Amino acid sequence: MLKIGCHLSSSKGWEAMGRDALKIGANTFQFFTRNPRGSKAKALNLDDVAKLRELMEEHGFAKIVAHAPYTLNACSQDERIREFARETMEDDLKRMESLPGNYYNFHPGSHVQQGSERGIIQIADLLNEILQSDQKTIVLLETMAGKGTEVGRSFEELQAILERVKCKEKMGVCMDVCHVHDAGYDVVNHLDEVLEEFDRIVGLERLKVIHLNDSKNPLGSHKDRHEKIGEGFLGLEAMVRIVRHPVLKDLPFILETPNQLDGYEREIHLLREASC
Ligand code: FE
Ligand code: FE
Ligand code: ZN
Repeated sequence: MLKIGCHLSSSKGWEAMGRDALKIGANTFQFFTRNPRGSKAKALNLDDVAKLRELMEEHGFAKIVAHAPYTLNACSQDERIREFARETMEDDLKRMESLPGNYYNFHPGSHVQQGSERGIIQIADLLNEILQSDQKTIVLLETMAGKGTEVGRSFEELQAILERVKCKEKMGVCMDVCHVHDAGYDVVNHLDEVLEEFDRIVGLERLKVIHLNDSKNPLGSHKDRHEKIGEGFLGLEAMVRIVRHPVLKDLPFILETPNQLDGYEREIHLLREASC
């Protein structure tokens, strides 16, 4: 059975996200660990988290994805900004231990004028400070579109980060198909070759989650603007090939398309039908 869900709002609590997921036919989902601007997170309601755990077990959910605030920058030139990223991620990972065995995804960061080599070292250093050998959460680097000075625009950059991380078994990659397409990887016409390239450079065993988004912009545009499934430059056929691909089909697929719940429900239904 296809593992598919979407990004959900955590404003009504954790169990409520599980209920919303069920309502729209999802068996996984993603949520922001706190308001995307990265402010202080609400105190964790352990009772609420326990109810979500129960609901997920009862309904056979796949692993879920916590997403770090996208405003964090682990490779800012400003030490205070890097420190803020470190503290926030460390706190998020502690909280995730109350929902063990899931994923924590983050955007590697933007190196601004420092150059990607320096950015890569700073990101790996931060990970080496926060990863615990006994943690139950796998931390994911998200593939980026290469907007501005984003690090993670190529498989080589992601691998350069992973190579420097000590707790390698706690790390993985989340492939955002809108981002890789915008970064110049042709997942529409050359999906097999792109996956072979990923395997050669990073290793497919590191690939844990797919962000399934269409793109408002053409291949290699370095833009990062998501479109509804089938309405962008990737198109429905490419999306269906992705969810059916033998090396991807068992991974959790998360939609981050411009939709409300009803739109997500339609996309989930469409992809479930197309996947079998
Ligand atoms: Fe993201
Ligand atoms: Fe994404
Ligand atoms: Zn994006």
